[in-house]
This record gives sequence, C-alpha cells and structure tokens, in this order.
Amino acid sequence: MQDSILLFDQAIAKQKPNSIHRNSPCPFCRPEELARILEVRGSMMLVENKYPVLQDAYQTVLIETDECQSELSEYPLPHLYQLIRFGVEKWMEMENNAAFRSALFFKNHGPLSGGSIRHPHMQIIGLKTIDYRENLRDEYFEGETIHRENGVAFNVSTRPMIGMTEFNVILEDLEAIDRAARLIQIAAHYTLHHYHGGTSSYNLFFYRWSEKIIAKIVPRFATSPLYVGYKLRQVSNHVPLIKTEIQNLYLKME
Ligand SMILES: [Zn+2]
Repeated sequence: MQDSILLFDQAIAKQKPNSIHRNSPCPFCRPEELARILEVRGSMMLVENKYPVLQDAYQTVLIETDECQSELSEYPLPHLYQLIRFGVEKWMEMENNAAFRSALFFKNHGPLSGGSIRHPHMQIIGLKTIDYRENLRDEYFEGETIHRENGVAFNVSTRPMIGMTEFNVILEDLEAIDRAARLIQIAAHYTLHHYHGGTSSYNLFFYRWSEKIIAKIVPRFATSPLYVGYKLRQVSNHVPLIKTEIQNLYLKME
C-alpha cells in the first residue's frame, strides 16, 4: 500500500499573509477582505479559505472569536462550548458530504505549529480523494488515563503518533461534547503554561475513529530529527509525572 500524499500549490502560498512570522496586518480582523462567508454564529464565523493551497480539497476557516489576541485556552466556558459544538457540526457536515472521502478539522497555535495567522481560528478541510484514516492506528490514541467521566476519557499517549507528548480526548458519546471541550481546553492550557515550563505552540486535531470522535492536543517543538530522518517515534518518560501534574492543577477538586 502506498502512503497518500497531498499536492501543495506554491504560487497560492506565496500570496498568503503571515501575521506570525512577518508583520502583515490581521486578515481576520477585516471582514471586508475575507473570502466568501459561509455562516456567522455570534462572534464566530465560517469562511472559505482565501488561499486554498491544497489540490483536490475544499478549505474553510472557522474564525473562533472577534478578539485577535485571545486564545482557546482562555475562553470562558460558554464560548468554548459554542465553539466546539459549531466546529464539530460543520466538520461532520463535510464528513457526511458525498463529495469528500474525508474531512480534516484542526487548529494551529503559535510559531512552531505551522500556523501563519495569530488570530484564533481552526480549519475544516474536505479531501476529495484521500481518507486520512488510512494513516492511523488504534495505538496513537491509547495512553495513561488522566481523567474519565460520563462519555469522555482523557489520556496522555504511551505510543504517540510522532511524540514526545500527545494528549487525547476521546468522546464516546456526543452528549458529552461540552465535557470533552473542557478537557481539550485543559490540555491546551497545560501545554502553554506548564508543559516544560510552558511552550509557545500546539496543534489540536480531530478524528472520527472507531465510532468515536477523538481530539489530539500536541505540544510543538522542532520536529525530532529521528522522526524526520528515520520515522522513529519517541515518547517522554515523564508520562506519569505529566498525568499527576494535570490532575493536581485542574482536576483535583472534583
Ligand atoms: Zn485579528
């Protein structure tokens, strides 16, 4: 079996603004310059991506808030719940659309995340020819349990997809979506403020896998050369420590 590979358009990429690495003004603060607006819900907005760099894909952007300097890890719970509900709903619509083989739903935050715009946003991308699940394995989502409540589980990977540290929030029942949103926020907040003393960057990825919705939160650093060169994964020996730290910081009172 051959690995799927996405074709990337360099000419479109060249025109993209970049508010993280260059000082371009924020495109998401100027609605008049956005591409087609698909839906507005409160301060959130789903728009077409003005710079669709991927071939055989339909790229949309979910602008999370009208506050440019805000961050998912800081949202008051009601906004967090609305955002995750909105995102999952739109992602599922695309997943269920026969025009696409699968749909990606993810977020980049910070200079090492691969993102180019600071303004909080996520991406929902329909892939016409590729099913992202072909690259997945059950073990990527298995780990040391940090927390479990009705319909949702939270763990830190023991056999991560790349490493070193990956958090998984496993939603077994859609009724538990708000509880999952809160655990996603905890993982993002822990990453930015406590993991290795606080890191600048993370990614959040959603998967539909074995009848479940799974979110993976990945603190980002320069990708390990052992992975880049040899596809060798690594896992942090701090897994038990990270688990206890998150429990103490966020979940102890329950
Ligand atoms: Zn902005």
